[in-house]
Amino acid sequence: DEQVLTAGKQVLTTLEGAGYTAYFVGGYVRDTILGRTVHDLDVATSAHPEDVIRLFARTVPTGMQHGTVTVLIHGVPIEVTTYRTESSYADHRRPDRVAFVDRIEEDLARRDFTVNAMALGLRGEVIDPFGGQEDLKRGLIRAVGRPQERFAEDALRMLRCIRFASQLRFDIDEQTFNAVRAQADTLGHVAVERISAEWNKALAAPGAVDAVQAVRTTGLFAHMPGVAGLLADQPDEWNLQAITRLSGLAERWAYLFLLGEKTDRVSSVLRALRCEKKLIQACGSTVRIVQALRVRPDTREINRLLVENGLAAVERAAMVQDVLAGQSGTAEALRRRHEQLPVQALTELAVSGADLQQELARRGGPWIRETLMALAEEVNAGQRPNERAVLLIRAKEIADR
Ligand code: ATP
Ligand code: MG
Repeated sequence: DEQVLTAGKQVLTTLEGAGYTAYFVGGYVRDTILGRTVHDLDVATSAHPEDVIRLFARTVPTGMQHGTVTVLIHGVPIEVTTYRTESSYADHRRPDRVAFVDRIEEDLARRDFTVNAMALGLRGEVIDPFGGQEDLKRGLIRAVGRPQERFAEDALRMLRCIRFASQLRFDIDEQTFNAVRAQADTLGHVAVERISAEWNKALAAPGAVDAVQAVRTTGLFAHMPGVAGLLADQPDEWNLQAITRLSGLAERWAYLFLLGEKTDRVSSVLRALRCEKKLIQACGSTVRIVQALRVRPDTREINRLLVENGLAAVERAAMVQDVLAGQSGTAEALRRRHEQLPVQALTELAVSGADLQQELARRGGPWIRETLMALAEEVNAGQRPNERAVLLIRAKEIADR
């Protein structure tokens, strides 16, 4: 946004003023030329990290070993990295050595794809040695240099090209794609966290269907923990087209598990990929609620689902269920139902768990939640009013059963 851009320009101005060269690089340049919203802004410079630290009042040495210093301009963090090359990637994943260089062109040459290998200067000048602007126009993800070599250096790039193609809705250059197919096996050298970060971005993006197709046809999926088991025995004509009607990552994962009939594997797959707990829980609950919705629950059961899981989770599942069944309107109907409920959540009951424990003089345990759920169910079914005295009497009856 505006604040970040102002801070970035100030960084370039200061660096140039001190006699160094400096440019905006990477995703910022790509997204600016495309007119897309830009989230982060990276700066590359001829200044060495110790020069950068000297020139700015507030800095954090976030990645000194690869030349990165974070500069704070009125609290806005800007990553500033010294021009560098990387050499001898013996293990397909990390450069053994990084060397600082003087010219921006040398720095751009180590970058992965032409559309990511452009630099933008203070006066609007674009440095584009590999035809990135042309590829942006053509909608093409193409490796900088020879794809086989670039993927041999860092196998993660194979997944990154699928991720960018999905986010930008670009095609993948044929040579680049063939190199992925030929070298897919080397993805096994890459850390799981890096794989899952790229894959989750690809799956959440507009080109998700093509991304799934691409990891299957290239064979990359076989080296993606968890994903291997999920995709291995799906039929070739497996049709995911509708997945893009879903907007969230958790919903899209849930869709894959449900469509692929692997609902028992949600947590094992997502844990193998080291996904965040929040995602695993959201996906797991979505799958569970869809399964509950599938068996045509009656009014009482639906009310129970709403009270137990909350509207947001049930709506999410309803969207997935609608997309799977090729229908629509379920989420809307459930939202209206939820609005009418006298008790939308256990906290809205006239008695609390603590009340029950005290009045019934019993130890805590699962019975508390079960009793509260039973009370909510009866109030929502119109069997009794949401009044403390009434509910306490009823709670005693339930507890004595
Ligand atoms: P996003 O908007 O998703 O952050 P980005 O292009 O900024 O996209 P990053 O992963 O943040 O992507 O990387 C920033 C830049 O660093 C890239 O544009 C690219 O030039 C370079 N880069 C990142 N990872 C690699 C890699 N594995 N190999 C080569 N260059 C890379
Ligand atoms: Mg970035």
